Amino acid sequence: MSEIIRRTGSCLCGGVQFTVTGAPLRIGLCHCKDCRKAGGSVYSAYAIWPREAFEVTGIVSTYGTRSFCPTCGGRVAFLGEDEAEVTIGSLDVAPTDDLVPEYELWTSRRETWLHALPGAEQFEHDRPTANNTQLAEPRPLSDAVAGS
Ligand SMILES: [Zn+2]
Ligand SMILES: [Zn+2]
Repeated sequence: MSEIIRRTGSCLCGGVQFTVTGAPLRIGLCHCKDCRKAGGSVYSAYAIWPREAFEVTGIVSTYGTRSFCPTCGGRVAFLGEDEAEVTIGSLDVAPTDDLVPEYELWTSRRETWLHALPGAEQFEHDRPTANNTQLAEPRPLSDAVAGS
């Protein structure tokens, strides 16, 4: 079973369609202010793919690196230079079964009626190894070459 998984997703109205191919690099939950404000929910569950694994069709509006449908406001992806962060809820199939968050960020802002996700690494703020507070450009640890 070495078939490459291809997942489809869309905004609420269907005006924007996208696909992600292959396995995600990592999967997380985030309770930070930006994730709450951008989605309107109390946290965001997302999976991150290499930028080249993400393809989108339709008209997309952007705010910083966040993209969304101008018609319905549905979030499409958070596009960094190297990575595409896709909200799990924007994928077409639910439940996704295999997309289980491995870590949880900004637990200091987690609603008191939510519990820590069992098995997920917990961070009070951002992941110390990731520079993902804004205009995310996380580098793989193996990539020691400074781009300049
Ligand atoms: Zn839409
Ligand atoms: Zn966040």
